[in-house]
Amino acid sequence: MGKKLIYYFSQSKCDGNAEMKNLLGSKGANLAEMCNIGIPVPSGFTLCTQVCKMYYNNDKLPDNLCGEIKNFMAILEEDAGCKFGDPNHPLLVSVRSGSIDSMPGMLDTILNVGLNDETVIGLAKKSNERFAYDSYCRFITMYSNVVLQLNHYLFQDILDSARCKNNVESLVDLDVSTLKQIINDFKNIVYENTGKHFPQNINEQLLSSITAVFSSWKNERAVSYRRIHNISEDLGTAVNIQTMVFGNLNNNSATGVIFTRNPSTGEKKCFGEFLLNAQGEDIVSGFYTPLPINNNTMGKLMPEVYEELYIICKKLEEYYKEMQDIEFTVQDGKLWILQTRSGKRTPEANIRIVVDMVNEKMITKNNGILKVDPNTLNSLLHPIFDIQCDKQVIGVGLPASPGIASGYVVFNTYNAEKAVKQGKQVILVRSETSPEDINGMNIASGIMTARGGMTSHAAVVTRGMGKPCICSVNGLHIDKNEGFFVLGEVKINKDDPITINGNTGEVILGILPTILPELSQEFETIMQWVDEIKTIKVLANADTPKDVEIAKKFGAEGIGLCRTEHMFFAHDRINLIQKLIIADSQDERVNALEELEKMQKSDFKEIFSMMVDKEITVRLLDPPLHEFLPNNKQSIKKVANLLGRSIEDIRSKVEQLSEQNPMLGHRGCRIAISYPEIYRMQIRAILSTVYDLRNEKNIVVKPEIMIPFVISEKELILICEMAREEARNFNNVQYSIGTMIELPRAALIADKLAKHAEFFSFGTNDLTQTTMGLSRDDSVSFLDTYKQAGIFENDPFVVLDVEGVGELMKIAVTKGRKSCPELKIGICGEHGADPKSIGFFINLGLQYVSCSAYRVPIAKLVAAHIALNQGHSKFSELTTN
Ligand code: ADP
Ligand code: MG
Ligand code: MG
Repeated sequence: MGKKLIYYFSQSKCDGNAEMKNLLGSKGANLAEMCNIGIPVPSGFTLCTQVCKMYYNNDKLPDNLCGEIKNFMAILEEDAGCKFGDPNHPLLVSVRSGSIDSMPGMLDTILNVGLNDETVIGLAKKSNERFAYDSYCRFITMYSNVVLQLNHYLFQDILDSARCKNNVESLVDLDVSTLKQIINDFKNIVYENTGKHFPQNINEQLLSSITAVFSSWKNERAVSYRRIHNISEDLGTAVNIQTMVFGNLNNNSATGVIFTRNPSTGEKKCFGEFLLNAQGEDIVSGFYTPLPINNNTMGKLMPEVYEELYIICKKLEEYYKEMQDIEFTVQDGKLWILQTRSGKRTPEANIRIVVDMVNEKMITKNNGILKVDPNTLNSLLHPIFDIQCDKQVIGVGLPASPGIASGYVVFNTYNAEKAVKQGKQVILVRSETSPEDINGMNIASGIMTARGGMTSHAAVVTRGMGKPCICSVNGLHIDKNEGFFVLGEVKINKDDPITINGNTGEVILGILPTILPELSQEFETIMQWVDEIKTIKVLANADTPKDVEIAKKFGAEGIGLCRTEHMFFAHDRINLIQKLIIADSQDERVNALEELEKMQKSDFKEIFSMMVDKEITVRLLDPPLHEFLPNNKQSIKKVANLLGRSIEDIRSKVEQLSEQNPMLGHRGCRIAISYPEIYRMQIRAILSTVYDLRNEKNIVVKPEIMIPFVISEKELILICEMAREEARNFNNVQYSIGTMIELPRAALIADKLAKHAEFFSFGTNDLTQTTMGLSRDDSVSFLDTYKQAGIFENDPFVVLDVEGVGELMKIAVTKGRKSCPELKIGICGEHGADPKSIGFFINLGLQYVSCSAYRVPIAKLVAAHIALNQGHSKFSELTTN
């Protein structure tokens, strides 16, 4: 006896439940669960994902399956009180895909299976003729498209011209004789394009539909979607066969979609749309603009259904403890639920929903934290557009997915890809989007469409991606050749800059300037919960008082990396350091250093006073000196003038300092060994600031002085000695001194370095570069090739190379702590906020990660997830062996 491959669901007999997603797919599992809890769901049965795997392994459906399906159809017929293929009283079914992870619109579904020239007459007698032929039209279109692989435009064209000829808006308004004519035309199209007649055998229809839906697992757009969302190819889809209910029966029928909370803002209020006298796919296709569900629309038109729908929304949300996205159909005044799943929403909405649900006691704080995917925070933390600025609004549409995006106009995926490769941001402008556009939508910064409502494909997909979208832009006409669009009076060419505001629906001319985002109250609340849970400190990299302010705003617990050279790059200071580098005499050098010291001191004063009671790690000068010198004729001349030197002088100095491999050259603490006065000056500036703050303002800070690019114990000894000497001039100042570990040699001799250093900070950017012998600035060219060849799984500058670089870190931690047990160890560098790498750092026993200020909340959240899941985050698995 084989395993059970088919599971029945109905109000009275149900084999499955919500736990069985892996077997039944999420649609099938939720249909079963809804039956279990008494929600009105049309009966049906699910062919489980195993069948899909068998189908792909053997290139056909399992042998005994047909017989099994017949048995289940017999039960379904009994339930429905009518028979599949019965010319008088036909049962129709839908054949619906349903994968484990929701992939909205990517897989195929066929409605009205079981219609042929005979059964359509039976259906017409049972109800009404218009409805029966309307359904037959829909069936032929869908079946031809999905099973026979004919382009749906072939059919759309016939419908369009029929609508034109009869001067009506939609299918619903066509009369029966026109519909019959259309059906004839459709059949001819099928015959012309396939050489076969449209199948009249209903069992063939059913089996071919099932096979086609299984095949849709591997269609191009589904494969792309899985790649983008990291969904495994092996999972397969289930197929659900379900009794049809008809939203296109009459004007007391409808189809719709409802979210139990607002998917854009998170507001606790149902949010949905419906279409009268229509079938499910009408609403998602974006072709018709549906009505919003509210008191004035559905509440007036079908008050009882409206009330029942709200009760079901509440029940489902409380049951699943999650915002639901629900598909429903009303057949002649009776409400049926066809699908429920957790609703896709914007990152902002998610945060609000989570905090509300915790406050409503629907979920616990810890559950709430786990419901926020750290990867989605990015869009909330980056600079936002300044919408208050002067701007020219050129049009309005439905605000379908919030956020603002500026970019250059493209009309298709091909051009989007081309522009993005050139480093441009693009706005994808289309009449409507379909699953074929998924790649373009994925790389565009925003989407704008001429048609479709709040639950159209474009709206749903962009909300899931967390990117702005405007639908149904009034008066938007796209040129047939996709060279420009016209919006009201304005003509915008391809590659022209525009901005879309998905919060208001406004289309704006040009690119908007940006400002820092305000974080919502709910965001702050979640971060407070996160702080209670996480076990690692999260610091920020910040170089200027302004950076420090941002870091504090985003909740950094200290500054793990303050790069002093950035203070020199400011345009009013660069000349001083240039003077220093070019100086011939001791006098000149001392003079320049004095000036620089004053400036560093004033910076430190500002920064240190902002960081009272918090860690602040200052890194001494790191880049090679030539980076401060001018590099072209014009700027050489300018510098020569400013410093009162000859052009030749400057040029020769530039030449003298230039190196073949500056990244591996005279930089970091190597500079201090050649020119000790530079580090001495910096150390003095730090210590005297601490001294002054204490004496003048009674502010106590204890900065950590960090030495970059160390490879030997002796370097560290010399510099520590310098610091001790300088410190003698400042009675009782507190500071600590430590080293970066950013070169393999430093990691390997960590035990020796730890004798002199009070802390280690891994500089994983340089450590990756030097461990792998891979230039961070040049490696990009073959990175993709390496990924495709399976040599790299990730960009090692984004996700830590645990196998190699991680191993060196392990050695350094072990050796360092062995010789100095109280050694403080952390990491600064971009990996510090990478969700995939943080778990490794925590498990390695580091005390802190330090990352760019904008990524502090992400790092904190990942750390909290890891704390809650015993060392793992569902969103950020990184294999450590
Ligand atoms: P998707 O996964 O792309 O949403 P679905 O299987 O949910 O595909 O079906 C597409 C549309 O058809 C949905 O609007 C759905 O509600 C509708 N539909 C599916 N099955 C039935 C049915 N048995 N009766 C009426 N409408 C249906
Ligand atoms: Mg659906
Ligand atoms: Mg470095």
